[in-house]
Amino acid sequence: MTDLKFVPTTCPYCGTGCSFNLVVKDGKVVGTAPSQRSPVNEGKLCPKGMYAFEFINSPDRLTHPMIRKNGELVQVSWDEATTYIAENLKKYKPSERCALSSARASNEDNYAMMKFARGVLKTNHIDHCARLCHSSTVAGLAGSFGSGAMTNSIPDIAEAKCVFIIGSNTFEQHPLIGRREVMAKMNNGAKYIYADPRRTHTSSPADLFLQFHSGTDVALLNGLMQIIIKNGWEDKEFIEKRTKGYEDLKKIVMKEEYSVENVAKITGLDPKDIETAADWIANNGPTALIYSMGITQHTVGVDNVHACANLQMLTGNLGKRGAGVNPLRGQNNVQGACDMGALPVNFSGYQKVTDPANHKKFEDAWKFPDGIAPAENGYEVTIMMNVLTDNPGELKAMYIMGENPLLSDPDINHVKEAFENLEFVVVQDIFYNETCEYADVILPAVCYAERDGTQTNTERRVQRWHKAADGPGEAKYDWEILSMVAAKMGYADQFAWKSSSEVFDEIAEVTPQYHGMSYARLEQADGLHWPCKTPEDPGTPVLHTQKFLTADGLGVFFPADWQPPAEVPDDEYPFQFTTGRCLFHWHTGTMTRRSETLDKEVPTGWIEINSEDAAALGIHDGEMVRAVTRRDGLTVTARVTPTIKKGTTFMPFHFIECPANLLTHNALDPVCKIPEYKACAMRLEKITEA
Ligand code: SF4
Repeated sequence: MTDLKFVPTTCPYCGTGCSFNLVVKDGKVVGTAPSQRSPVNEGKLCPKGMYAFEFINSPDRLTHPMIRKNGELVQVSWDEATTYIAENLKKYKPSERCALSSARASNEDNYAMMKFARGVLKTNHIDHCARLCHSSTVAGLAGSFGSGAMTNSIPDIAEAKCVFIIGSNTFEQHPLIGRREVMAKMNNGAKYIYADPRRTHTSSPADLFLQFHSGTDVALLNGLMQIIIKNGWEDKEFIEKRTKGYEDLKKIVMKEEYSVENVAKITGLDPKDIETAADWIANNGPTALIYSMGITQHTVGVDNVHACANLQMLTGNLGKRGAGVNPLRGQNNVQGACDMGALPVNFSGYQKVTDPANHKKFEDAWKFPDGIAPAENGYEVTIMMNVLTDNPGELKAMYIMGENPLLSDPDINHVKEAFENLEFVVVQDIFYNETCEYADVILPAVCYAERDGTQTNTERRVQRWHKAADGPGEAKYDWEILSMVAAKMGYADQFAWKSSSEVFDEIAEVTPQYHGMSYARLEQADGLHWPCKTPEDPGTPVLHTQKFLTADGLGVFFPADWQPPAEVPDDEYPFQFTTGRCLFHWHTGTMTRRSETLDKEVPTGWIEINSEDAAALGIHDGEMVRAVTRRDGLTVTARVTPTIKKGTTFMPFHFIECPANLLTHNALDPVCKIPEYKACAMRLEKITEA
């Protein structure tokens, strides 16, 4: 044991933010050991965290900068690569440049990318994959509560007396939060309600399983609220003192359309189950409402989020432990990437770019001699793709840090068409991925184990990464690479950081929620929850205890009527198709599919088909079938199961050999521009031998 080093860090996969030690031998990371001190994971890890060391030493890691010359990628020096990028980026007008930041990268990298886009490229066309997972949360909860983040902490979920999980397969996507849901039931006697179109592992402990149709969330939530109001179970004092807009809410949710009988028809549920759920949520509190992308990834994603917030305000389940609206953010640092302003409308700390005072604040702080991007909103990533296909020539150059839109974005054929209309593409990553096919320059970055930094988990807890080993070849920190390009474009002074800690100090200076944080303070095992405004502030695990973060301190009811998904099943495409993830893989699989252990567990993708539907089509478990939507079709292995709702099909999106996003729809929520990954129409075809 004496030659082993244990270096504390935070898991690079999901937004739970478990801590572990990287085990280092002879300068090489050879294992992980869960942190016993961490209040998030208390000495436990899920399989992804357990094997989060395996991809680090993959021979596939990018090691040197490359430029595409005569169609071939050629290894070059950093000097040549950064000069080439600077010369090319300078050819374009600010409005022709755009950037994608990364929810997998650290806060320091995201802040650097935000500053690079606004100060060097002079554009607000910057976004990242939060657009695709929780932009509806950011927009929806900001309207309802004045803050678009999880209201409570992970540990206090175990203090709930009722957990209402809707649209979250917590056991597979956030396993160490799933543990808290079970603890609430086992240790605290909580009622456990699970609402989802699939009977997933998360449904196992359920006292009540609501297997409803995908895309009927607002109808269900409005129906629950009608029952609560009809029975007088609402929290009158909370509504009176802490909220506004209740009469508007009543006008919508008390409509006949949301009677329990009608809601049962829309959702496919038993009316008695809806009544039981309403009773438990209102009367068995504190109730923690937990949701994820089953709520957010819809054309009505913002309405869905508002409906969750409405239910919790109606029942007074906010501002106290064991309650709250708890969106589970997907990627390790998607909360941080949003906090850092890797968004087209915000500087760091959700300071609006269109507010002249904020514009002046950042211009003064950064001191770019020729100013920064104008005080106007930029394009969201989904809009960037539409602009590229619908108005070729408006956007010409894209700088991508740690994202893989060619597998993660909806309707891949549409994304390919968009990329074909770009003139200059830079990709900065740890592995060669599908998007690199379109890159003019590829730059190698170090991974989480090879760097110092911070990330912010789903409960707003800022935690440290510590460098355990050197990166491969000439790989560098993302913020360091951006600083080198910025220097080549004439902005060396604005990117003169010498360490991650110096970048963090700048973040703390300009970002009110992080103002009281420093690397020294973050060394404590449990990190710090934002807002943390002064060096003495212990952080804020539970938001909205006395008042909401809105201008007048009141929570706002935003009622909405139910609308069906943009594409519903019909005679030609009779199934409702939905997508998601599995326990052993992560997003586009660049890391988990290079982990031998995880890849062995689940080596390829599949489509889930309800047993009765499969029997009607003569499809057997394990056979290859054609799955076809209006976008495209693909051949994939059938997994025939009674666990999925009749009429619904499901695919995970990790696998390039059967890419679910070839089939998905890029219909967008009109407010936040999130795509509807969770519902589109599909046809299944049995493959018959010729
Ligand atoms: Fe990592 Fe999430 Fe698993 Fe924790 S629950 S070990 S953060 S993947």
